[in-house]
Amino acid sequence: VGSAVHEQIDGAVREWGRAADRGELADIADRWELWGEARGDFFRYVRGLGGCPVPPEGLTEVALCLLEDGSVVQANGGKGQYDMPPDGLIAGTIDALWCERTVWCGGAYETEVVPFLWPDAGPPRLFPGSRLFVPDWKTGEAVTTPPAPFNWQIKGAALLAARWTGAPLALPALGLIDGGPVRWEMELDRHGAAVVLDEGALASIEAEIRRVVARVRAQDPEHPEVEMGPHCAYCPAKAACPAHVAAPRAMIEAIPDPKAVGPLTRDEARRLLPLALAVEPARQAALAALKRHADAEGPIEIPDGRVWEGAEATRWDFDVKATFDALVDALSPFVGEERALEIAHDAFKTSKEALWDAISAAIDPLNEQRAKENLKRITKKSIAEPMFEGLVKAGAMTERTIIEYEARWPKTNGEEGRNG
Ligand code: SF4
Repeated sequence: VGSAVHEQIDGAVREWGRAADRGELADIADRWELWGEARGDFFRYVRGLGGCPVPPEGLTEVALCLLEDGSVVQANGGKGQYDMPPDGLIAGTIDALWCERTVWCGGAYETEVVPFLWPDAGPPRLFPGSRLFVPDWKTGEAVTTPPAPFNWQIKGAALLAARWTGAPLALPALGLIDGGPVRWEMELDRHGAAVVLDEGALASIEAEIRRVVARVRAQDPEHPEVEMGPHCAYCPAKAACPAHVAAPRAMIEAIPDPKAVGPLTRDEARRLLPLALAVEPARQAALAALKRHADAEGPIEIPDGRVWEGAEATRWDFDVKATFDALVDALSPFVGEERALEIAHDAFKTSKEALWDAISAAIDPLNEQRAKENLKRITKKSIAEPMFEGLVKAGAMTERTIIEYEARWPKTNGEEGRNG
């Protein structure tokens, strides 16, 4: 889905102002083999953008390579595969870049896009006084994407783009695409202002890249040192990676110590947590593999004599309103109407996410039609916010605080960390 969204944005900026029709989007979805839910997500994300998120002056999908001497040249390749020159250190593709500057306008500071300067030869240059804006698109919930202050992908991209264009200042950003207009996420300072990288910050990013490249090059390819992190999300080596296989292996080999007493020690807790966090994804992956195996090879025997296999099962779908009333009517004679309503509400709980999905289901197709007729989009916010407000006023939507245990990014500058 991410690759398809990148392709759509790249095409949109080259033909800026012309909205892609459904046929063109379907071609992109076909090229990236998106079916079912993934295809629906792609259409939803593109429609939600409501137009091209890159200004007409911007560039997209620029493959760049950092050389030993600190200079940056354009590279051939993409998606992790590049023809690296012998003196190449690291290569990557910049999703988008453009120049912008802050201007004082009507009593407030505003950001305006300025065009690149194009010399007779060589890369584009920045308009004096402007800075480079370097976003990286992330689609969906982006839970595996480190937030901007921890995100070395956007820092590296900003360094490559800044060295290529000679920009003294660069602003890296995550462009989160999840069904509405792009949500920009940047590192913020303690005053809430976006952190713009200056020469010193860019130099320290380059030093860190050189340190990592040297460490990678020093590895024994047969026995590399591996380090788990968000970078593992799409690693093709995960199934055989010693770090990832270690957790399930440890579970299999773990022998309970009956002499151990008292609550968990700090050390035990530290060792247990990665195992506990690995259980659910490992279980999902194991069940998917077992289902495929059982479908192809037949039932799998369980030591207690039963077999595990897929079989048809009946599920009922209910009309919510009629069922709610029927449940209240059935329970009221026994527990009174008030209690019956309470119990029925518990049985029909919904969530804010489900309501946003319902609004999307209604509005996305309408917006698609309106785009063809050059009519203004209906924003989902314009429907959701008054509805939520009305529900809160009527006491039909109440807020409660719960304690949720999950992995979070540490707080920066007092900001709450995004979950991951
Ligand atoms: S899965 Fe293993 S090899 Fe792949 S990035 Fe993570 S630690 Fe490295």
